[in-house]
Order: sequence, then C-alpha cells, then structure tokens
Amino acid sequence: MDLSTKMLDKSPTTQFRCGYCGSTVQSYNQSFGICQFCEMYNDNATKQDKELSGVLGQVNSLVSRSDFDAAAKLFESLVANHNSAEYNYAFGVFNQMYSDHEYGMRDYTTPNGYMEANSARINAGNAHFSTAKALFFKSILLSDAAYQQSKDANVLYAKFLSQIRLRKVLDSKATLSELESASATSAVTEYARMLYLCATSDKKSEQQVAKVALLGVPNAFYYAADLCAERSKLGDAKRFATALLGKVDMYAAKKLLIGIERAQAII
Ligand SMILES: [Zn+2]
Repeated sequence: MDLSTKMLDKSPTTQFRCGYCGSTVQSYNQSFGICQFCEMYNDNATKQDKELSGVLGQVNSLVSRSDFDAAAKLFESLVANHNSAEYNYAFGVFNQMYSDHEYGMRDYTTPNGYMEANSARINAGNAHFSTAKALFFKSILLSDAAYQQSKDANVLYAKFLSQIRLRKVLDSKATLSELESASATSAVTEYARMLYLCATSDKKSEQQVAKVALLGVPNAFYYAADLCAERSKLGDAKRFATALLGKVDMYAAKKLLIGIERAQAII
C-alpha cells in the first residue's frame, strides 16, 4: 500500500481524555481527535464535564490494573446516569475488550482442574460479548431518537459506529448516506466513509485511508495494517501497525499485531 508513515515520525500534536470512554486521544491535528479506543469524535466543543471526566479517568486506571470488574461497575453507573447513544456505544466497546480479556485468561497449561476455570472464563467472555451487542443495539435506538429531536447529524455517528461493530454493513451504508446528506462534521463523515469502505473491502478503501491519515488521524494506520493483513501482505501490515504503536496506544492495533505475528510464525 502506497501510504507514508512519515507523519508518525513526529509526536502527536494534541493529547486529551476522550469525553466518552476516558482513554487518551492522540491526534496529529490541532482541532480534533478521533479516539484510539472507542473511535468517537472529540473536538473543542465536546462537553468535558469535570465529574464525568473524573469517573472515566477512574475507569481507565482500573482497566490499567486489570480490574475489569470494578471498571465495568463504574462505567455501568455512569451510563445509567447519562443514558445517551454515545455512552451506551462506548460502554459496548468496553465490553468487547472485557470479553477479549476473559477469553484471553483461559489457561491450558495447568495439568489438573483447569477445565472448570476455563469454562467460567468462556462463559464470562460470552456474556460480555452479548452485553456489548445489546448496548450497540440500544445506542442505535437512542441515536435515532436524538436525531429526531435535534436534527444534528453528528448524533448519528454513534449509530453508525454501532452498526459497524455489529457488522450490519447494509444498515451502516444507509447511516453513512444520512451523515453525508445531513452534513455532519466533515472529519466524522470522512472517518465513517473509511470504516465503511474498509468493512466492505471496497477498492477505494486505500485512497480513503490515505485521506484520513492526511487529516491527522493516526487510526488510519490501523486500517492500513488491517487491509494489508486481509490481503496477506503481512510484512506491510506489521510495518504499519508497528509504526502506529510506536507513537499511539491503540488497543485494536495491539490485538491486530499479535494476530499478524502469529500468522507470520505459522508461515
Ligand atoms: Zn473514547
């Protein structure tokens, strides 16, 4: 793929806490950032409620200590108090990670008695996966309701992201058209278009990844790596993922890099 990683030679120009999931957003753009974890759009106008930001900070510090259970409880209470499309979506993404964590804790090395512990992990992983799906569906409904009220196309972005996470590609195409025709913020539309083209393996996806990289959104390199991996260009995939992770902490990219290295070991 013809995409320069030169931008990543520098340090990100902007760094702040995501207003929806609390992780650190790093951007090569002065005016906005797209979260490396939940992919929500944040700019100067994104409400940074102090109390909310404090709770999200606590959620992140619990995750960094692998205390997913306490983090989930805290995030759940936050969503109960702020029942919007955006927070339900972000909590859905959290549950996807929690599900990965439980599956990842399976241990097949202990000679005796591991079956019971492993099946508990698998059940927990499945439960968090189902919770994530339910939250994405709820986010879609809330997003529609918010759009009916505000007529602000940006509220449809959480719906679009939820549809992509649920792999509802046809539905996401309709939402992308809504984002485009109802004039959502241009970076939101460009990013959503990239996600849609990558999800459908469209031939224009490479071009769109390059366009989003030029906007100063480092996440574009994750999608570049993913497209390369999908085409079995593992060397290029690893190059993009490694360059990205050298600058930005991105959960999905770490997961992808593990997959790429496993595939390389098999070949
Ligand atoms: Zn976020």
